[in-house]
Amino acid sequence: GQKLPVPDHTRVLTVANQKGGVGKTTTTVNLAAALAMSGLRVLVIDIDPQGNASTALGIPHHSEVNSIYDVLVDGMALADAVQECPDVPNLWCAPATIDLAGAEIELVSLVARESRLLRALNTYLQARVDAGEERIDYVLVDCPPSLGLLTVNAFVAAREVFIPIQCEYYALEGLSQLLRNIELIKAHLNPDLHVSTILLTMYDARTRLSAEVAEQVREHFPEVVLRTSIPRSVRISEAPSHGQTVMTYDPGSSGALTYLEAAKELADRGRRKGTDA
Ligand code: ADP
Ligand code: MG
Repeated sequence: GQKLPVPDHTRVLTVANQKGGVGKTTTTVNLAAALAMSGLRVLVIDIDPQGNASTALGIPHHSEVNSIYDVLVDGMALADAVQECPDVPNLWCAPATIDLAGAEIELVSLVARESRLLRALNTYLQARVDAGEERIDYVLVDCPPSLGLLTVNAFVAAREVFIPIQCEYYALEGLSQLLRNIELIKAHLNPDLHVSTILLTMYDARTRLSAEVAEQVREHFPEVVLRTSIPRSVRISEAPSHGQTVMTYDPGSSGALTYLEAAKELADRGRRKGTDA
């Protein structure tokens, strides 16, 4: 398989879009697997109470499992919640359990409520280095489709925002709200935060609509849209019900190959001077 360049620091990306069903989780897990299969060490943090990323990565996340809820609300060490993915070496996941649904409210009254993920993540990354373990190269945070405290925690913990955009009508609707929120976080909580990457998903080459949406997004955000688009593919949507990413479920499929290509673009951009990473 392909070997991708190791970034000079751990890249932390929050995968966000305030809409549901646009491919956040699918992109998070497949891109993470693609990066890991290309020789990099990758951690996925699931902060969506649905726990779909955990499911797709084959990680148990019933309510007794240590999870990101315990980390955010009870101050558990992230290391105690992280599990290794069964199918892909060098890929780890901190799962979300349904408990997390209550965290949005519980966080409100806690100290440093916006930066609890940041603290936990930094402690975890540093502890690995101190223990002589190999550094994590990429951290991908899978967000719920809302802009509440969970997503705020993800924005504070990350430097880069990665936005999947579905090639459908109204693709850009609500995007300005997301961008405004990112600006607010940048102004008040995390000056380094920026949108580094946009990925077009569920692209259907047979429809004019997909092409039009893609063109519109590329016009608005010429610098950050990846050249690769992810096609609409049944194999991609089937994989999670097998507790797998499409990268292992059907490695030769167009979905797997385009996620590998997107991973390559992401990694190559991170290396370039003067850009995002
Ligand atoms: P989000 O996390 O933004 O809510 P998901 O990643 O869960 O979105 O995707 C929503 C639905 O679309 C899921 O059923 C998923 O399997 C499906 N899906 C995502 N990407 C693709 C794709 N490229 N082709 C076909 N189905 C897809
Ligand atoms: Mg999701």
